[in-house]
Amino acid sequence: MNDSKNFIENIIDEDLSLGFNKRLLKFRFPPEPNGFLHIGHVKAIWVNFSLAKKYFSPVVLRFDDTNPEKEEQKYIDSIKEDVSWLGYSWSEERYASDYFDQLHVWAKELIKKNLAYVDSQASEEIAKQKGTPTTPGTNSPYRKRTIEENQILFDKMTSGVFNEGEHVLRAKIDMGSANMLMRDPVIYRVLKKPHPRTKNEWCVYPMYDWAHGQSDYIEQISHSLCTLEFKPHRELYDWFLDNLVQKNKVRPKQREFARLNLSHTITSKRKLMFLVKKGIVSGWDDPRMPTISGLRRRGYPPSALKEFVRLAGVAKRENIIEASLLEFCAREELNKSSNRVMVVINPLKLTITNYPDDKQESVFSENNPENPSSGVREIPFSKEIYIEQEDFKAEANRKFFRLTIGKEVRLKSAYIIKATSVVYNKDNSIKEVLCTYDPKSRSGSGTEESQRKVKGTLHWVSKKTAIKVQVNQYDRLFEHPSPADAQSEEELMSMINPNSSTTCFAYAEPSLSKAQVGQKFQFQRLGYFVVDNNTPSKIVFNKTVGLRDNWKK
Ligand code: ATP
Ligand code: MG
Repeated sequence: MNDSKNFIENIIDEDLSLGFNKRLLKFRFPPEPNGFLHIGHVKAIWVNFSLAKKYFSPVVLRFDDTNPEKEEQKYIDSIKEDVSWLGYSWSEERYASDYFDQLHVWAKELIKKNLAYVDSQASEEIAKQKGTPTTPGTNSPYRKRTIEENQILFDKMTSGVFNEGEHVLRAKIDMGSANMLMRDPVIYRVLKKPHPRTKNEWCVYPMYDWAHGQSDYIEQISHSLCTLEFKPHRELYDWFLDNLVQKNKVRPKQREFARLNLSHTITSKRKLMFLVKKGIVSGWDDPRMPTISGLRRRGYPPSALKEFVRLAGVAKRENIIEASLLEFCAREELNKSSNRVMVVINPLKLTITNYPDDKQESVFSENNPENPSSGVREIPFSKEIYIEQEDFKAEANRKFFRLTIGKEVRLKSAYIIKATSVVYNKDNSIKEVLCTYDPKSRSGSGTEESQRKVKGTLHWVSKKTAIKVQVNQYDRLFEHPSPADAQSEEELMSMINPNSSTTCFAYAEPSLSKAQVGQKFQFQRLGYFVVDNNTPSKIVFNKTVGLRDNWKK
């Protein structure tokens, strides 16, 4: 890709050229801790941390925790883990709840300036008076309350005298504004719920719009970057700041970029929560989930996720990125970084009849031809071998370059073999294939025979030393290209791929017994796999992606 600047960098450069002090640049990533982060959040994280890197500026990790009904400590923990795993470190860890006192003081200031009032109507009534995008709203009958009356009522809201829903505090802006959000938005509500951090201290909580911009101001964020759906909020964001900002302080600037939308998946915590609660997936970190934790268990390296959002680009208009681009980024990265190993998933036994019964030798194979410093490893070879069932046909046409009776193939890093006959079970299934090998053809031995060209090369595992491993393979969770468009839970359910996960056992070369959880490998000719679990009793691999894009028609 080119090095041209994205539109946010242009905005910042313009601000700098107009005299904004570069040292005052400051960004934030503000997740609500009501679920796990997903691939969409990677974009927001990447946008902010890349700017910070470019301009040598800090990034605040701010938990937008103004909704105690939905937020939990476990989500805070997972968000921190995920941002760190992506390789980013934040300069400060903050919580909107750190500012509840200040936000409350400022709300009282608005009341004092006659810019906020307590409304005592039911929420349905308030909603009815909002009007529509094309017709203005109507003023609340409580809009003319005196400042003193509002002060007393807000104090009572705060001290717990009222029940939820009895009163709200609204900003007094303009019920006729073309922007519905400017029609006297609610800024405080009564909520008698303990908060994960402030416990029972508060029974009024600030609404998103009131908390967000003011938190940016308190932290002195210079550029508050969010997704396009917040564009209509910008006018309100600015109205609040107009009434608070003091001289000599940085006035935060909200700017919006397009969300990342991905085909064949959903990027909404609410909908992902539905999949978890319904038991459609095993949890937020199920390897089929588009969450950062799911992608991690699936074997996606952080660099592949970052490269993906970089390629997807920072734009001002919504679009949908193909899921295959994400898979492409994983393949590119894993090809460079993962060691090759041999694993046979659908085993077929071969017996090499002219190989000595008790002999076992070692052959050597490059760990990663893309990385010369990765070294070589030793692989045991002996008389009985497993290859993939798909790699043998007793009879085949000329285009079949794998093993068939009378034709030669090479066993990767070992010998050239030739199939001689098939031994069948009573039910006519193949029991084993007998073959012979050319003892002079050993790879790397330098003999003329070792350099003989044969059409096919197969991966294999020696039976005597093979280890049994579990292999989980995945398909897309949604068959439908745009599950995000589902209008109901039923419709979303109907888009689910019923066969998105399969599990089987495979034979692996013994070097894998020492594999570490999270370690990534290329199973030769099969794809990229990551170690999900390695205990004395069980080694489990998850398939990340195949070697090629199987989705292309
Ligand atoms: P969701 O709808 O999944 O809950 P959200 O926007 O409510 O997402 P937040 O935790 O509030 O989630 O988001 C934190 C930041 O991440 C916000 O700045 C938001 O704009 C950004 N973000 C969320 N989803 C995406 C996405 N798909 N693409 C880019 N940025 C996103
Ligand atoms: Mg949100």
